[in-house]
Amino acid sequence: MNFLEERIIKDGTIKPNNVLKVDSFLNHQMDIELMDRIGEEFYNRFKDCDITKVLTIEASGIAIACSVARCFNVPVVFAKKSKSINIDGEMYIAEVESFTHKNTNSVIVSKRFLNENDRVLIVDDFLANGCAMQGLIKITESAGATVMGLGIAIEKGFQIGGRVLRNLGYRLESLAIVESMDHETNTIKFRETVAV
Ligand code: 5GP
Repeated sequence: MNFLEERIIKDGTIKPNNVLKVDSFLNHQMDIELMDRIGEEFYNRFKDCDITKVLTIEASGIAIACSVARCFNVPVVFAKKSKSINIDGEMYIAEVESFTHKNTNSVIVSKRFLNENDRVLIVDDFLANGCAMQGLIKITESAGATVMGLGIAIEKGFQIGGRVLRNLGYRLESLAIVESMDHETNTIKFRETVAV
């Protein structure tokens, strides 16, 4: 098991409806040493890609994005969730259905912060059905920028997002892939991944 899988086993909680709670170390209270390790790991995996920006979605992707961006020495851009339907021409926009909140948000990025010269690494804390990632890919491609890779801390491999994105040809790296998890028995199985 790698460092993130070990931490999930130790401090994660399996909730009903395929939700894994990791709020004691990843997305509410945050273990910054763990964040730094995650950042370094993504840097090692994508350092050949000449990344110019790290893109994520608010809120829980931001901390991971900051750790990654520090390693690459590039800015973080995060897509903002906007309830407003007043979209001016200065924004890239995508519709993203939230897995956890079961609602749809317009997510926006100012055109000032992404352009056709950018080589973008998109990161997030979780991958489930892939809606958040698809929205961020759409925004990147609307800007004429290049998606160099997708970095996910925890992929739930039993949901479709990972398969769809890999089939589309994106380079997707997940640090921990949950193959199955069971709320009743409190058990979790990981897919074999590259050791980190
Ligand atoms: P997707 O868009 O891939 O369906 O879901 C990814 C988004 O939903 C992530 O940004 C993450 O915040 C949230 N998410 C999905 N599954 C889980 C989960 O099991 N636990 C937590 N804490 N968040 C999740």
